[in-house]
Amino acid sequence: MPKSSIAVRVRFAPSPTGYLHIGGARTVLYNFLFAHKNRGEFLLRIEDTDQERSSHEMSEAILRSLNWLGLVWKGSPVYQSANRMRHLDICSQLLEKKMVYPCFCSQELLGEKRAMAEQSGQGFMYDRTCLGLSEADIRARMEQKEPYVLRFRVPDGSVRFHDLIRGDMEINTSEIDDFVLQRSDGSPVYQLAVVVDDHDMGITHVIRGDDHLSNTPKQILIYQALGWECPEFGHIPMILGPDKKRLSKRHGATSVEAYQEAGFLPEALVNFLALLGWAPGNDEEIMSLQTLIERFSLDRVSKSASVFDSDKLLWMNAQYLHQLSPEQLLPQIRTLLVDRKLITEDVKIDSAYLTRFIELMLTRVKLISEFADAGRYFFEDPTEFESEAVQKHWAKEGVSERLRLIEEKFSALDAWDEPSIETLLRSCAVELNIGAGKFIHSIRVALTGQAASPGLFEMMALMGKETVIRRLQTAILFIDKLAQ
Ligand code: GLU
Repeated sequence: MPKSSIAVRVRFAPSPTGYLHIGGARTVLYNFLFAHKNRGEFLLRIEDTDQERSSHEMSEAILRSLNWLGLVWKGSPVYQSANRMRHLDICSQLLEKKMVYPCFCSQELLGEKRAMAEQSGQGFMYDRTCLGLSEADIRARMEQKEPYVLRFRVPDGSVRFHDLIRGDMEINTSEIDDFVLQRSDGSPVYQLAVVVDDHDMGITHVIRGDDHLSNTPKQILIYQALGWECPEFGHIPMILGPDKKRLSKRHGATSVEAYQEAGFLPEALVNFLALLGWAPGNDEEIMSLQTLIERFSLDRVSKSASVFDSDKLLWMNAQYLHQLSPEQLLPQIRTLLVDRKLITEDVKIDSAYLTRFIELMLTRVKLISEFADAGRYFFEDPTEFESEAVQKHWAKEGVSERLRLIEEKFSALDAWDEPSIETLLRSCAVELNIGAGKFIHSIRVALTGQAASPGLFEMMALMGKETVIRRLQTAILFIDKLAQ
């Protein structure tokens, strides 16, 4: 792909050794926003060259998460392993030009040298033992089938580049040792593969996590050795947990898939990730993908690390969730309830019931999954009663008698709708000269097992007479036992 034909072509290049991490998702998002903002292209390359650690399942899982987030790439993903011959070919070109040399030093020898350097408090750098080998020596050792790696000969001088986020950078090459480009088993290493693939894919801007910052000078040296134009680089600072340590599994869920399962909406996660290290320059917070594209610029990406604030993510999710109508949520909630075995697929729970259930619960939840967790009593009788609720609303004189009375009156009620239920309950309270609240709270515990729920009359109307009567009877038995 010729680079000159397009102003911006970026890529996300995950190694399929694990699920898509929150940090990776933010890198994808910034690439995606940058590409679309500049009418460019966002491509995907799966860096699957490490055969022991990569897996097809992980590649698939990463693609699934990207699709779920709506961060879709252009064309088919490029699988790096398919380019192996090209990587090796480039490496032999560099060998011919003597920019790469074979190194026969064994792992043991290098290990000893490293240990010695560390003992004397110095960082280990390869001492170029094999750079001085004669042609004849090299040929002889190769004929003997002595294993060797190919090392890049780092030139003297310095590498300068302008990082799109961090600004001007300069690294003296005396700090870079002659790094390996091809392993002794003949496989190309990341530094080589990434340069060749980025060049061949016509990548104009490499935007990635700053854990790759130390790789960039090496990669620039390879571009220069090959006489290729360098892309621009931008390194995004890392994400920290609340304890200011790098975000990791210790801090809880870190994969996009885990957030999906926990009931977050992709739009909310995308919006949250966008603001994790970037700010639009005003106080806008809720932004659709389209708005994010319009607002995004790399020069507003923070130079310092960002702290992951899970309360903010939850708040953001609630903002998105509450904008949706029960009808829009219905298919997803139905699937959730089937997955949680609260409803079955074959016995068709009527859509009107589910829609009203969603409506009653919507303002009370922040996550999709809470519809199943907090709303399970809409689908099955409570199996236990919260002890605090029992203490507060049931452990009093006369509760059982009152519930028995109201249960009888409800049983005799013909019109089972909100106004009739409410009128009956209130007139009963007047009759007994007690506040309606006494009835409301104790009935709520009977129906839900807890002290908080959506409005009682709406809930009773929806659950239906049979369910209400059955739960009241169970509660009366329970309270009577409590009193014994
Ligand atoms: N495959 C590398 C990783 O997953 C990324 C390479 C790059 O972006 O240059 O960390």
